[in-house]
Amino acid sequence: MDRRKFLQNSSLVATAVTLSPFDFSAKTKSSSFRVGFLSDTHVKPTDIAETGMRNAFRHVNQLESKVDFIINGGDSIMDALKASKEKVQAQWDVWNKVLNDENKLPIYHCIGNHDAWGWQMTELEVKNDPLYDKQWVLKQHKMKNRFYSFEYNNWKFIILDSAHENNGGYIARIDEEQFAWLENELKTTDSSKHICIVSHIPIVSFCSAMFVDKNEPNGDWKISRALLHVDSRRLIDLFKNYSNIVCCLSGHIHLQDSVEYFGIQYYCNGAVSGDWWGGPFKGFAPAYALFEFFNDGNVKRQIINYA
Ligand SMILES: [Zn+2]
Repeated sequence: MDRRKFLQNSSLVATAVTLSPFDFSAKTKSSSFRVGFLSDTHVKPTDIAETGMRNAFRHVNQLESKVDFIINGGDSIMDALKASKEKVQAQWDVWNKVLNDENKLPIYHCIGNHDAWGWQMTELEVKNDPLYDKQWVLKQHKMKNRFYSFEYNNWKFIILDSAHENNGGYIARIDEEQFAWLENELKTTDSSKHICIVSHIPIVSFCSAMFVDKNEPNGDWKISRALLHVDSRRLIDLFKNYSNIVCCLSGHIHLQDSVEYFGIQYYCNGAVSGDWWGGPFKGFAPAYALFEFFNDGNVKRQIINYA
């Protein structure tokens, strides 16, 4: 039985997963920590979505090489962009119930576009509702702000807010307030700290180009503002000033890649929901990513096809 099969089978039983997914864990346990990156869960009140989310969170909680905390990469629920209040609440109810039942690990949340309420609704009462935009998701996740940072050992994690309303759709970027905050955050972080930046939508990614099936009729690549940060150049230029930025993690695309650009590793990490709970998406099975962060600034990723 190969290791992937073993892990898959192990997720079906209630006992701990007995095999470390990292070959080097025994040697390096004291000089590293592990993070589960679970993104694009897109849960909704159906059996398949609820059971799938349950399996993913149970799996990451049962790994023998213990995970120190989880980062939720965003798009926790199927969609709040154009759903009624009742339907949005029903989705958050499943999210909270499953998380409460299956997750014992600390969890840090990042906001996804589908977590924001009402962007694709025209009713004035929605726009004027105190839960409009990101207020609802902030409340659900008990987040003080839509972007923030925290430290763990000698690493700093910076969680960005990628998605913004744009003519009834959305655009991937950070706003001026957030950019000023990020500049200051990087400037005031001790250079001995290694930095990992999280954004729901990728800042650098090849997946963003692969999301739609066909190129434009003339054969050119064309990437939507909704699939890749439109301010990538500005962010990359900022990042060049800080050699302690090691990696950037994202979700959103439901595909997986790893791109190194100007010395920074950009990981796009697939989706817990795969094809929005319809199986694999363009060949990528429902998955989460397991990261090992080393005290010397190295990072290693393994994709876990948990289902
Ligand atoms: Zn998304």
